Amino acid sequence: MNFATQLPKSGNRLASKSRLQFCGQQGLFKQAVPKELGGLGNGFQELVEAHLKLGKVCQDTGLILSINAHIWGSIFPLMLYGTEKQKNTWLPALISGEMIGGHAITEPQAGSDISLLQATATVTEEGFVLNGHKRFITNTPIADVLVIYAQLDSKLSAFLVCSDDIGADFKDSPEVVGCKTATMGDVHLTNCHIPLNRQLGKTGAGNMMIQNALELERAFIFAGIIGIMQWQLAEVIQYSRQRMIQGEHLGANQAISHKIADMKCRLDTCLLWVNECVRLKDAEKRISLASAQTKLIASEAFLQSSLDAVHILGAKGLMQENKMLELVQDAMASRLFSGSSEMQKNIIAALIGTGTGFKTRKN
Ligand SMILES: Cc1cc2nc3c(=O)[nH]c(=O)nc-3n(C[C@H](O)[C@H](O)[C@H](O)COP(=O)(O)OP(=O)(O)OC[C@H]3O[C@@H](n4cnc5c(N)ncnc54)[C@H](O)[C@@H]3O)c2cc1C
Repeated sequence: MNFATQLPKSGNRLASKSRLQFCGQQGLFKQAVPKELGGLGNGFQELVEAHLKLGKVCQDTGLILSINAHIWGSIFPLMLYGTEKQKNTWLPALISGEMIGGHAITEPQAGSDISLLQATATVTEEGFVLNGHKRFITNTPIADVLVIYAQLDSKLSAFLVCSDDIGADFKDSPEVVGCKTATMGDVHLTNCHIPLNRQLGKTGAGNMMIQNALELERAFIFAGIIGIMQWQLAEVIQYSRQRMIQGEHLGANQAISHKIADMKCRLDTCLLWVNECVRLKDAEKRISLASAQTKLIASEAFLQSSLDAVHILGAKGLMQENKMLELVQDAMASRLFSGSSEMQKNIIAALIGTGTGFKTRKN
């Protein structure tokens, strides 16, 4: 099918939901999900290929962000930590795109440092009562369910909270300019009552669950964005061949062609890193280090290539409706979502035995 022509147009919040649901109907959320859970039973290579294709045709970083928040924020945590009953209840609708999910970690006072998370869950006879405020959460205004992280007896734990739960307010707050087609919002939990069967994973497993979800997101969110970078490079090459300056095409100027050569090298480096994550994941190996390296390298590459693309287009690149300018903002956002570039460096340093994140053992 021609995905590009059939993908609903972007626009308001409803359009964002339709676009995500369309991706679900096309089977995008079935990739790398076992057959017995309603997936295609294939591996991460196929997932990456499908995301790459989508990025190339849609050129929409916001949509890629929404898709990844849905997959790694809700589908995979349910697959990995859900009880049989939870999987049967939630996964079919999330995988088909009938329901939209995401994950809510960040709070106004806690971004990079999740040890500062303050949202709480208290046990009652019927279930849990949640209180707190989550911020900058992708998909919030269109989400049916979010995996929300909160302190239960001072132990970080995960809960499934629905948009229609009493005391849960999934608010639309389009404060961020990058990835503008992704919906984003605040979640206010005010004595939000949820039944006992909505706890996901064990009490105190929140930290590990967040790390696992973010590792997967960091490893694969750039698959779709690499598709966009392929489009970006093709556009720039075409422009450099058409635009005439002093009797020669723009690309004949080495200052321009070298920038384009750099864009190509960055793009291929990103793809090599995503494929390294595929290799590790399909071999059931750990991706903690590789996913942090992939996220760091790819987001910095995306930003530099987006700046180069705007530069090569001259004033045209700065026109408000120009997609290349929008990609610069998207790339700035990409340095923050799933953990900032600085946090990736901290993770890498700690994993190779140095830096602030590395604690020396006493025994
Ligand atoms: C488009 C977008 C989508 C998002 N979607 C979600 C979502 O779905 N769910 C969710 O929970 N969150 C989401 N977030 C929030 C995101 O996870 C945070 O923005 C990110 O973790 C950084 O937190 P912060 O913005 O509070 O910055 P801060 O943590 O306040 O950091 C500010 C700056 O200081 C730097 N910094 C912080 N600590 C250190 C350090 N130790 N060493 C060096 N530098 C440091 C950071 O890199 C950053 O540049 C999203 C953010 C964006 C932009």
